[in-house]
Amino acid sequence: MQVLKHKIRAEGKVLSDTVLKVDSFLNHQIDPQLMKEIGQEFAELFREEGITKIITIESSGIAPATMAGLIMDIPVVFARKRKSLTLSKNLYSASVYSFTKKETSEISVSGDFIQPDDVVLIIDDFLANGQAVLGLIDIIEQAGARLSGVGIVIEKGFQNGGELLRKQGIRVESLAIVSSLENGKVVFTEEEQA
Ligand code: 5GP
Repeated sequence: MQVLKHKIRAEGKVLSDTVLKVDSFLNHQIDPQLMKEIGQEFAELFREEGITKIITIESSGIAPATMAGLIMDIPVVFARKRKSLTLSKNLYSASVYSFTKKETSEISVSGDFIQPDDVVLIIDDFLANGQAVLGLIDIIEQAGARLSGVGIVIEKGFQNGGELLRKQGIRVESLAIVSSLENGKVVFTEEEQA
């Protein structure tokens, strides 16, 4: 998605050879116009799949997931990272190791919002080692729902999450795939540049 790649080039900050900061439009301040275009792209990509629900993780997946949900006219559920007192019964949970925070956290979704007849699209901001997506897949399986695919805003192709998921036959659509962050420079994969 060219507009996204231009934005990453213009505003992304390479924090190390493995971490990209996009706080000015996705992870802190949000660019609603760009999020709308991202939502439209996901809606178009997964149009034929009969999706009934989008699942993401708080907090950075919520903006792109909500825009996709608006256009697809389906609800969006976000897994919570902290257990709230009001979220105690009928809960699906999974452990997720965070690449950026270097800690494991428990994510949870209420059974009220995911049903066995749901066809689910996972949306998240970044794909690194795939741990967040695997946690969400675990929850979808616990609920007996069906995973349709995964929509990612920025995939870091030099980490193994994309390969791990695609090898399992899971459809993963990433709007920008970064092949390298070395020497402070963002490089996108060739097919993505076409
Ligand atoms: P994974 O679970 O695939 O290893 O990592 C994905 C999660 O970690 C995303 O939900 C995202 O919040 C965070 N993450 C991973 N890599 C980056 C990165 O380079 N930049 C930012 N901002 N977040 C990242």
